[in-house]
Order: sequence, then structure tokens, then C-alpha cells
Amino acid sequence: MKKIVIAIDGFSSCGKSTMAKDLAKKIGYKYIDSGAMYRAVTLFSIKSNIIKDKVIDEARLEQMLPYVKIDFINNQETGLPETYLNGKNVEKEIRTMKVSNLVSLISALPFVRHALVKLQQQMGEEKGIVMDGRDIGTTVFPNAELKIFVTASAEVRAQRRVDELLSKGDEVSFDEVLENVKSRDYIDQNRSESPLRKADDALLLDNSNLTIPQQDEWLMNIFKEKANC
Ligand code: C5P
Repeated sequence: MKKIVIAIDGFSSCGKSTMAKDLAKKIGYKYIDSGAMYRAVTLFSIKSNIIKDKVIDEARLEQMLPYVKIDFINNQETGLPETYLNGKNVEKEIRTMKVSNLVSLISALPFVRHALVKLQQQMGEEKGIVMDGRDIGTTVFPNAELKIFVTASAEVRAQRRVDELLSKGDEVSFDEVLENVKSRDYIDQNRSESPLRKADDALLLDNSNLTIPQQDEWLMNIFKEKANC
């Protein structure tokens, strides 16, 4: 079976990473969560006071960006990759609302996108990779053999995110999360640099009414078709 590149894009909190992770594990591919990379840069900006009251010191961020080291290291217990920022495990911290509320501002900056897209392309050079994000099928891997664009209603996505955050012990309200989901959708779709959009050759998956096993089965069947051809 030949190794291919699988690009999974779509709106915030629509379960892209769950499906991407599950597939990568089953087929023995590398999984990269590109959103985690934008989140790590955002966390770095918060900690270094580069972003304050939603105002970004762009010149400082551009100057410091080469010193932001992002790695994915497998957790031995779960077998899943976790995000490290300059050597420190930040997997939990990058998922907080504080980071979620600022990440779309950071990810709209062209110099941030150029730097991260370059890293992402290097990660995929040998193929055998599943990457999820917003611009993977359009900008990072325009020649990916399999592209999926995932969507679900904003309410369904907000509820999934609330459940996930509550299960991790984060106290959040549905309204706060819904507002965040809608605002990220808006910024991600309307930024000038590689806005979120479905690639023409991507398959559309609306998973509002699908269970995770149903979705995984759908994806596995499509993968088998593409990887065999
Ligand atoms: O996937 P996740 O929701 O963790 O991504 C966080 C944010 O990172 C998105 O809302 C978007 O602003 C940004 N992002 C992006 N391009 C990607 C992945 C994520 O702009 N490829």
C-alpha cells in the first residue's frame, strides 16, 4: 500500500482531531495537529507579554518566533502525541479558553503562518501523515492525495467542546464556548492569508449527526480506496 498525505480541514471543534488521531493510529501514520502549533505560539505570546488586551506586538513576535520551538512527543501511556513548547509539555495549557480566545488573532498574522506552514510541509515530506487544521488541503499540502473538509453546526460543535473542557475539569459555560466557536469561524474564514475554505477537491463531511465510530468507518473506507489506487 503506498503512503499518502491526508489533509483534514474544517471548522473549530468539529471533531477533526479525533478522527485524524484515530485514523493515524489505525493505519500507522504520523499525526500532526497544526492547530496545536498556532496555540503554542499564542501561549508563548501570552507568557512573553507579546499579546496584551488583544493587542499584539507584532515586531517582537516576529523577532522572537525563530526561538519558539514546538515539538510533538508521544505520551507513553496514551500513545498519543502531546505538544511541547521550548521543551515543556503544554498540551493542557494550550487548550484553555484563554488561548482559544486569542489564537485566531495570532494565526491571522502572515509571518506566523509562513513559518508554521514551512515546518508543517517539512513534517510531511516523507508522506504517511495525517494533518488537521484550516489550510492543510489548500496551502500546506495542495497535492494531498486525500482531503476532507469537516463541518457541523456551531451549536453541536460548542456542545462537544463544552463536554471536552468539563471532562478535563475546566468550568466553562455553553454560551461562552458558542461565542468563541462563532468568533473563531468568522476570523478564520475572513483573514486575508489562507482563509479557511474547502479545497475544490476535498470531500465534504457534515458530522452533526454522526457518531464517532460511524465517522471513523466512513473515513477508513475512503482511505482504503485512495491508498490502493
Ligand atoms: O484546531 P484548533 O481549533 O485547535 O485551532 C486553533 C486555531 O488555530 C484556529 O481557530 C485557527 O485560528 C488556527 N489554525 C489555523 N490554521 C491551521 C490550524 C489552526 O489558522 N492550519
